[in-house]
Amino acid sequence: VSFGYRDVDASEKTGMVRSVFSGVAAKYDLMNDAMSGGLHRLWKDHFVRRVNPRKDEAILDMAGGTGDIAFRLHRAGAQVTVADINPEMLAVGQERAKKRGIDDLLWSEQNAEQLSFSDRSFDAYTIAFGIRNVTFIDKALKEAHRVLKFGGRFFCLEFSTTTWPGFSEMYDAYSHHLVPKLGKLLANDEDSYRYLVESIRRFPSMPEFERMIKDAGFVQTKVEPILGGLVAIHSGWKI
Ligand code: SAM
Repeated sequence: VSFGYRDVDASEKTGMVRSVFSGVAAKYDLMNDAMSGGLHRLWKDHFVRRVNPRKDEAILDMAGGTGDIAFRLHRAGAQVTVADINPEMLAVGQERAKKRGIDDLLWSEQNAEQLSFSDRSFDAYTIAFGIRNVTFIDKALKEAHRVLKFGGRFFCLEFSTTTWPGFSEMYDAYSHHLVPKLGKLLANDEDSYRYLVESIRRFPSMPEFERMIKDAGFVQTKVEPILGGLVAIHSGWKI
């Protein structure tokens, strides 16, 4: 399987991804702002509007990291479980929640490929900038389907490939040259940011990923490209 710019044994990838995020956890929020020029905040706002969380709904925010999506869902009164494979990312998230006076989120260490939650536990499943890090994406999608109730919805926010000519070359130049440099400058960690860039480049195209969501059992799947597909929201329903 691919790990950024090189191939590794599937059994190694999950551990390597875990260590990437252990390394970046403390600087994660700062780096997101720096690298997206603050745009990730708008994408996340938009994503959560699409999810349309309702009061008291049970929502699983998978690969929830430091809580950006969970805090937004929580604002609508949903009961949010933040799950992530990385305890350091979760710890930063819990610290942030405390500062915001939020004390009713559930934080849970989980591998998206194999969740400890029972079948049909959640009304919605969200995953933002998380799925491309998962070794076996098809397994994670099947698990998402399993833990959703009938009528439950799946929402994924992820980098994809922009189809805007010109913009895509600009983005390539930016991501290959500037992002690793920024990673070095701000977080003293060039390799992790190289991994992040490469994992974006290798992620399946929008139609391919939609196909995978269908294969996991979801229906009425939809793709909403943002900035020509630089980022995309994929969604589907379990019926
Ligand atoms: N959702 C957050 C956000 O949008 O800010 C965090 C996104 S961060 C780029 C990716 C997260 O995926 C990291 O916190 C990482 O630990 C988590 N992750 C990677 N592989 C995972 C897996 N197999 N299962 C669960 N979480 C995973």
